[in-house]
Amino acid sequence: MIRVQSPSSSAALLLFAVTSGRLTGTLPRPGRRACCAGMTENANPFREIDLLSLPRPALKALFQAAGQPAFRAEQLFRWLHVRLERDWTRMTDLPAGLRAQLAEARTLAVLTATLERVSALDASQKIVLLTDAGHAIETVIMPMDSGHVTQCLSSQVGCKMACDFCATARLPVRQDLTAGQIVEQVAYACRLGFALGLRRGGVAGGEDGPLSARPHNLVFMGMGEPLDNLQAVSDALDILCDAKGFDFSPRRITVSTSGLAKNVAKLAAAHPNVNLAWSLTATTDEVRDRLMPVNKGVPIRRMVDVLLALPPSPHRKITFEYALLKGVNDTDDDALRLAEMARELNAHVNAIPFNAWPGADYQRPERLVIQRFVDVARRAGASITLRESKGQDIGAACGQLAGEKAA
Ligand code: SF4
Repeated sequence: MIRVQSPSSSAALLLFAVTSGRLTGTLPRPGRRACCAGMTENANPFREIDLLSLPRPALKALFQAAGQPAFRAEQLFRWLHVRLERDWTRMTDLPAGLRAQLAEARTLAVLTATLERVSALDASQKIVLLTDAGHAIETVIMPMDSGHVTQCLSSQVGCKMACDFCATARLPVRQDLTAGQIVEQVAYACRLGFALGLRRGGVAGGEDGPLSARPHNLVFMGMGEPLDNLQAVSDALDILCDAKGFDFSPRRITVSTSGLAKNVAKLAAAHPNVNLAWSLTATTDEVRDRLMPVNKGVPIRRMVDVLLALPPSPHRKITFEYALLKGVNDTDDDALRLAEMARELNAHVNAIPFNAWPGADYQRPERLVIQRFVDVARRAGASITLRESKGQDIGAACGQLAGEKAA
C-alpha cells in the first residue's frame, strides 16, 4: 500500500510513519518519533519524500516530526495545491534553510506533457502526460453543453482489469499513479485554462492564480481502475477536496469502478459524498463474465448488494456506465434488466455507444438500435442519458492516444 524506496533510510521510515493507515485515519500522534531512532542530527527528514502526494494532515505530521512548526506545512500546502507552484526557489515565504532541505525531496515535476490533441468536433482536449519513469497516461478536458468543463483523470498506467472492449487493457500494466501524479493532472488543466483566460472566482484565499481556472467536475474514468489504487486515489481526493487546497466539492467528483466490491465500502467510508459510477456494460453474468473478468469474482447481484449496503449519504449519486456494443448488450431484454437494476439502486444510467478503436473486436450499434434501447429503458422507468464520447476525431477511446504514444 505504501511505497517506500529504501526501507532502511530514515527518511523512508519517517514517511512510513506519516503515511501508514491514512485511509483509516490513524495518523501518527504528535511527538511519536520512535521510528526516527537512528536518524543522525544532520539527516534531512524531507529527502526523497513525495511531498506532492501528502494530504494536509499528513504533511503537518511530517513537519511536526521533523521539528518544524505546523504553519510551515500549511504554507507549503498552499504553494503546492493553491498556487500550484513546483519550483522551490519561488516559495519565498519559506526560510531559505527549509527550502534547501525541501529541494532534496522528490521532484515536484511529476508529469510532462508530450502530446496534445484538440477535437474539431467538440473542443475537448486530450493530453498525453509522461510520468518521471517515462510511462504515458492520458487526461481529457471536456467542455460540456452546460458550459462547464469536466476533466477525466487516470489513476494507473495500464489496467489489470482486462475488460475486453477497452483500449487501455491492451497496454502493458506498468505502475499505479501516486496521489501527486493524480493531482498534477488537475493542476495541468488549471494552468492550461488560466493561460486561455478561463478564470473564475471562488479560490481559497482569493488568489488570482491558475486554480481560478479549475474544471467544474472531475471524473476518475481515464486509464486504470481507481479502486485498484485506492490509497493514492483516496489521498488525491483528500487534497482535491481540501478547503485550503483545490477546494473541490466532493459532489463534483465521480469515481468509477469496474466492480472491485471489496474497496467500494472503504472509498465510501472515507469519502461519503463522492459520486460512484459502476461500469456495468452487461445485464447478465454470462455476458459480463466475457466482457469484464472482474465479474467472475464479483457477479452483478453481489455488486448491487454491496452498493445497496453502503451507508446512506445525502449527496452521493450512483451512475451506471453502459457501453453499448453491437449485438452484445443492446437488446430490449438488456434495456429492461438495466432499468430494473437502475430503479433498485436509484441510479442514473449513462448509455455510451461504443467508440471503435483500431484492433477492437466490437462495434457501435446502429443509430436506431441505440435510440430504441434508450427508449425501452426509459419507458421501463430508468433515468437514462445517451452520451456520445467526446473527442471522436482525436482518439476518443480511453487509452487510445497513450497507446499511440507508447507505440
Ligand atoms: S474499462 Fe476501465 S477497468 Fe476495464 S480495463 Fe479499461 S480502464 Fe480498466
